[in-house]
Amino acid sequence: MPYCPDCSIEYVEGTDHCEDCGATLFPGSPPAPPDNLEILSPKDVRLVPVRVFAGGTAQMNADLARNILQSQGIPCILQGENSAEMLPVLDVPVLVREQDVARAERILRDYAGARILED
Ligand SMILES: [Zn+2]
Repeated sequence: MPYCPDCSIEYVEGTDHCEDCGATLFPGSPPAPPDNLEILSPKDVRLVPVRVFAGGTAQMNADLARNILQSQGIPCILQGENSAEMLPVLDVPVLVREQDVARAERILRDYAGARILED
């Protein structure tokens, strides 16, 4: 499947250009999504919340959002997921790198038709 080198989005065979940014697609498969651990360590990476889920389904929706973003090649973490805290979490922010925020928001907006991601 050809893919966009800028967006890491895969397209069906026969597609030449990215529908998103117009870049010429590369043959083959997109590189594996970056390891999430990598974005946690560098000090120069600023993580910002792309969306904050709240309520009883917050964790579930945040997990789904993270899966969607990671499938699009955007490294992403859920704030507090590494905590040993077992109490119910009220707000679950989904964090991405600052440079990925615009794209992450667009991706999540595209998925907003799915009721599960509506606020
Ligand atoms: Zn693109």
